[in-house]
Amino acid sequence: MERARLAIVVPCYNEEEVLPMSNEILVNLMQEMVNEELITNDSYILYVNDGSKDKTWEMLEELHTTSHFINCLKLSRNRGHQNAVMAGLMQAKNNCDCCISIDADLQDDINVIKDMVKNFLNGDQVVLGVRNQRTTDTFFKRTTARAFYDVMNWMGAKTVKDHADFRLLSNRALQELERYQEYNLFLRGIVIELGFKQSIVTYDRKERMAGETKYPLKKMLALAMDGITSFSVKPIVLVRNLGITLSFLAVLAVVVFVILAICNIVLPIDAYVIAAVFFVGGLQLVGLGIVGEYVGKIYIEVKHRPRYIVEKTLLH
Ligand code: UDP
Ligand code: MG
Repeated sequence: MERARLAIVVPCYNEEEVLPMSNEILVNLMQEMVNEELITNDSYILYVNDGSKDKTWEMLEELHTTSHFINCLKLSRNRGHQNAVMAGLMQAKNNCDCCISIDADLQDDINVIKDMVKNFLNGDQVVLGVRNQRTTDTFFKRTTARAFYDVMNWMGAKTVKDHADFRLLSNRALQELERYQEYNLFLRGIVIELGFKQSIVTYDRKERMAGETKYPLKKMLALAMDGITSFSVKPIVLVRNLGITLSFLAVLAVVVFVILAICNIVLPIDAYVIAAVFFVGGLQLVGLGIVGEYVGKIYIEVKHRPRYIVEKTLLH
């Protein structure tokens, strides 16, 4: 293939502040790539409005009329980042050779988009954008994000460290991605499972140009939990091991009590009993909670509800 028909999927949730800037940069980039004969002229940017509560959609409707590069999708309500990306990817699935997803704030370096496309033209089906360093993120964001990847990997959810949702997927990869019908989406994990010829491009992560993060700690924790529970059963194994260890310790304690009794040492046993009751009770709750998490996931998954509903499309 000489030139690719490229779709750039951009999820947008309350992005009115950053959208005008990002859009200008992206449209210029598209034109540049067309001029360099990397991509075809019917390539496009696909904005996915994820139920924004601000003027994002009105802005998108307006932008749609300003350039043939701009297509838009409106979800019927806020469905979260992963679903918004998925909605965009599935819309692009039959209308592109390759598709790149990138956040609306363009914190990920758009300059590597050309490299991604080049890798695709050289036969790669999946190209992952990986961050070199995150000095521009706040200390808090940096450490929580690092902990996020570490915990995820330790818990058995396969991810590439410092790869978020900035990546290229070929049409072939998109066709296969469609078969992953899970409700609890964790694209970073699924993409690696897809296999095919994959490659990595690295870049430095920049600061948000405007607006603030739509990923507060709470959402990050939810994403981590989704990632872990939809990709591994390690938490259950951990609880089991903890249970075994505790029973062993309990046996040991009994032995100690017996020895102390033989030596005529009397302990205020109430304290131990109360502590033990609380400890075991708490442990059971933790175990139940974790099992419940999986049962909850199963409950949601068996319903096969749609992950998102497209309310409107503005296409050229
Ligand atoms: N986003 C979305 N739906 C949501 C939350 C976020 O579509 O419910 C989009 C958001 O508009 C942005 C991307 O997901 O394009 C990443 O969000 P953000 O940049 O705020 O996250 P951070 O970079 O701080 O992790
Ligand atoms: Mg961001």
